[in-house]
Amino acid sequence: MTGNGVRLRAIKDVEAYVPPAVTFLDSETPGGNFGANVFSKMVMQKRLPKSVFKSVMATIDQGMPLDPMVADAVAAAMKDWALEKGATHYAHVFYPLTGLTAEKHDSFFDPVGDGSALAEFAGKTLIQGEPDASSFPNGGLRNTFEARGYTGWDVTSPAYVLENPNGNTLCIPTVFVSMTGEALDHKTPLLRSQQAMGKHAERILALFGHEDAEHVVSFCGPEQEYFLVDRHFFLARPDLLNAGRTLFGSKPPKGQEFDDHYFGAIPERVLGFMMDTERELFKLGIPAKTRHNEVAPGQFEIAPMFERGNIAADHQQLLMTTFKTTAKKHGMECLFHEKPFEGVNGSGKHVNFSLGNSELGSLLVPGDNPHDNAQFLVFCAAVIRAVHKYGGLLRASVASATNDHRLGANEAPPAIISVFLGDQLADVFDQIAKGAATSSKGKGTMLIGADTLPALPTDPGDRNRTSPFAFTGNRFEFRAPGSMQTVNGPIVTINTIMAEALDFIATELETAVADGAEFDTAVQNLLTEIITDHGSVVFNGDGYSDNWQLEAESRGLPNLRTTLDALPELISESALELFDKYQVFNNREMHSRYEIGLEQYTLTIGVEARLTLEMGTTIVLPAAVRHQTEVAQNLAALKAVGAEVDLTLLNAVSGPLSDLRTALTTLSDALAEQPRELTLEEAQYAQKVLLPAMTAVRTAADTLEDVVADDLWPLPTYQEMLYIL
Ligand code: ADP
Ligand code: MG
Repeated sequence: MTGNGVRLRAIKDVEAYVPPAVTFLDSETPGGNFGANVFSKMVMQKRLPKSVFKSVMATIDQGMPLDPMVADAVAAAMKDWALEKGATHYAHVFYPLTGLTAEKHDSFFDPVGDGSALAEFAGKTLIQGEPDASSFPNGGLRNTFEARGYTGWDVTSPAYVLENPNGNTLCIPTVFVSMTGEALDHKTPLLRSQQAMGKHAERILALFGHEDAEHVVSFCGPEQEYFLVDRHFFLARPDLLNAGRTLFGSKPPKGQEFDDHYFGAIPERVLGFMMDTERELFKLGIPAKTRHNEVAPGQFEIAPMFERGNIAADHQQLLMTTFKTTAKKHGMECLFHEKPFEGVNGSGKHVNFSLGNSELGSLLVPGDNPHDNAQFLVFCAAVIRAVHKYGGLLRASVASATNDHRLGANEAPPAIISVFLGDQLADVFDQIAKGAATSSKGKGTMLIGADTLPALPTDPGDRNRTSPFAFTGNRFEFRAPGSMQTVNGPIVTINTIMAEALDFIATELETAVADGAEFDTAVQNLLTEIITDHGSVVFNGDGYSDNWQLEAESRGLPNLRTTLDALPELISESALELFDKYQVFNNREMHSRYEIGLEQYTLTIGVEARLTLEMGTTIVLPAAVRHQTEVAQNLAALKAVGAEVDLTLLNAVSGPLSDLRTALTTLSDALAEQPRELTLEEAQYAQKVLLPAMTAVRTAADTLEDVVADDLWPLPTYQEMLYIL
């Protein structure tokens, strides 16, 4: 097809498309299949010898080291269960630093001499795998001659069977480490940071009288925003296909300004998709809970129920894969990019964080007596100290080329990391800073007794949508992570900075008490000290306002606007020391994270720059030339018959067309001159030279889109992609 053909055909195809009906069997009750494909505690209890089950549970619930003696028994039970579920293969699933999920599949069946095959799955196969993984990014941690990486079973994250028309697979969540034990993945540090944070939280609980408290873990509830576009449009847009975002596209006449999409009725086709994904997620034991339209047209959100950080992170990856495959089944593409459409609200992934255990629940919930409230305030104070001391690291944990399009724009929290406490809690800390808090603002009863701290009603309080780190009643919500990111980086960072703060607090309190101080007084003094030293990170105002930028500066809070401003935080002296001290990352591992951050940044922008050049040259330019030719021919014909000739139309296309040609040449030259070492210099070049060169191409192209005859325009427009579902 010529010219506009691709786009017009896409529109026709979209119109003719009949989405698959979503049918539920009569036997299927809502939620009835929950966890059907999970090798869960319940399944293990049924299938494992009692002593083996107890041993595995001790590892999962109390963080005891895994007893290698039980591996064979677990492997045998897991294999039988998986075969009954129709699995033919098993896979060690791991999370390399690309941010994607990787799997290595092996058959259960080994041929035996007589021509038949025997299902084999020994304990050692369960515990350890060895994928040929030399091409995963490792930031210098592995030379190719020692390219071996090992996967190791993570007992705390349940195995599951993934269904596929070509055969089912038993999936075993694993860590991925180098021969020398360095982390090549996102899971290993999560487990390490979890352990560090838990240990120090438990010291504090002991001081509050919970000597034998259960293991403390972090909880995470990730809210995921995403876009859906019809696949016909998606396939007609090389930018969406290859970069996940549109590199061209003029703003639609109707944007999101009507707010008519937010929480509006969900289109029927999308509802079918949602029901289908939820069924799949339920089978995998992922507690998908809420769903609604988001701010932008074509944008939606899902928030699974919170779980232990480690499991939530695995589930989050699985959720994204499930969304992608299910969307395809429904003729749509699921876009997780932070900013698929310029000028339209982008997507984030809010990481709701708390810590606690099943016995005490979240430790970030105000109690109903002064004693519990003191404990709550201590954990809140830990958050305040952690975020103040290491705001730069939190910023770095969400830094990516794709998230740069969103963070700091007026739709996502600014790059300045501050804490929102809500009026009531802020008021309590204000009083603490002045000496003692004796009253509690807001509704509910005030308990002013012998204890020096007020009672706090468990009211989630007001919401502040502009804060990057907001208290929401029983948790903090980290709102800066990007929709495409794994949640591991943010959780690892939060766990580790919390470990440091909790360690500090535990040591202070233990010392004070050992020195004969009264516990209540020691707590009071400590809270005063923390809020005095770190209270400047608390901000309850409008994070989107310009004033805040100035105010934050005067408070000394870092404002790391872009990825390249933020990444060096990873190798700052304080960061290296922190992660090393809590044994989450050694210095080499931190440097590798930094290198990979730079590499991913450079690669992302490189791909986009080449795509911009290619699409500009082969799609936009020819369309504009055709239009120009048609107009010119028309004018010539008019002139030939002596009619009056108006050059407006011709000028309208010729100006931007010439701009486009110039911009394409500049971009092409810029690409040719880019330094070719994957270093800071190359990344800076991408930011300072390539990005502006791409913008110039886009500006000219978008102007042309508003000029060129609609039937000649080759790319599906924003309006079509956003409004036709
Ligand atoms: P909102 O959009 O108003 O922020 P949602 O209901 O969409 O709220 O999402 C809230 C998320 O926070 C859910 O994933 C929920 O499970 C999670 N969450 C609730 N309580 C906790 C907690 N104590 N710790 C961590 N996450 C939590
Ligand atoms: Mg939220």
